[in-house]
Amino acid sequence: MVAVSNNNPFLPYLGTVIDIKDLATDILLFRIEMLNGGKEAFCDYKPGQFVFLSAFGLGEAPFGIASSATRGDTLDFAVQRLGSVTTGLHELGKGDPVGIRGPLGNWFPMDQFKEKNLVIIGGGIGGAPLRPVIHEVLDHRADYGHLMILWAARNPSLLVFTDEYEEWKSAPDTELHLTVDQPDQLWDHNVGLITQLLEKVSPSPDNAISITCGPPIMIHHVEKLLRKLGFKPERIYVTLEARMHCGIGKCGRCNLGEKLICIDGPVFTVAEIGEMLENYL
Ligand SMILES: Cc1cc2nc3c(=O)[nH]c(=O)nc-3n(C[C@H](O)[C@H](O)[C@H](O)COP(=O)(O)OP(=O)(O)OC[C@H]3O[C@@H](n4cnc5c(N)ncnc54)[C@H](O)[C@@H]3O)c2cc1C
Repeated sequence: MVAVSNNNPFLPYLGTVIDIKDLATDILLFRIEMLNGGKEAFCDYKPGQFVFLSAFGLGEAPFGIASSATRGDTLDFAVQRLGSVTTGLHELGKGDPVGIRGPLGNWFPMDQFKEKNLVIIGGGIGGAPLRPVIHEVLDHRADYGHLMILWAARNPSLLVFTDEYEEWKSAPDTELHLTVDQPDQLWDHNVGLITQLLEKVSPSPDNAISITCGPPIMIHHVEKLLRKLGFKPERIYVTLEARMHCGIGKCGRCNLGEKLICIDGPVFTVAEIGEMLENYL
């Protein structure tokens, strides 16, 4: 039985799949309408938060919320098919029920980003939790400084949110740079790793914040390069994907030093991560 109120944080709210789109190879974008208590629970979620989605009978897994509360009361999730839960989710159709626990975790402090220049760096499916940040900035464009988006994937068929690039790059004071490791014949943007692109466009660290999400190896190299470009660790935000189990700070499986990524994160600055590791080692 699925909960409609959240007295027990382990019980999911019930939602209905109202739309499914092919986003990229093996990645589907699900639009979910929340039912009953879930509508209130998700009326004010923030960019960077995540949920646990359940595929009934198979289990649940964490996913970043890929939509923005300011653009309607449905929720979007970009789900890459990997194992049992994500395969179960990929087999859902319109009208099917899903379980959702959340909203969980902390979020990007958008208020602190106001009037700053923003460098948003997304790799592959890691672009999903950055989409609400981009939407927030575009919807309140005058509140933020220059927006530079660096967007990457292994190949063109793995780029996410391609149907929004026109909207992103035509916004005032906004740049979008795309790169792939392996181009196809139609590809006419950059080729190479996102670090090569970052080095090429070399954003200025002056009055700037960078926000990165992608595979751990990408975050590691991007973070090193941002520091070389002059970005201070407290101005480099990343969102981490750890193996999580409970999502509510009870099981301790996602600890980094004394912090738990599920409740203290998933959004951290590089300065915070440095402190956490120092206390841990
Ligand atoms: C905070 C957070 C946000 C996330 N957001 C998204 C999202 O927006 N979209 C999305 O597609 N995925 C996201 N993920 C990853 C997603 O949770 C995993 O892909 C999912 O748990 C896999 O479940 P499964 O049962 O299908 O695969 P499993 O059967 O559990 O595993 C299949 C394969 O994937 C690997 N794997 C499983 N979980 C992870 C993980 N967390 N990191 C790296 N490798 C893993 C396993 O080692 C195995 O090789 C997020 C994870 C976290 C912690």
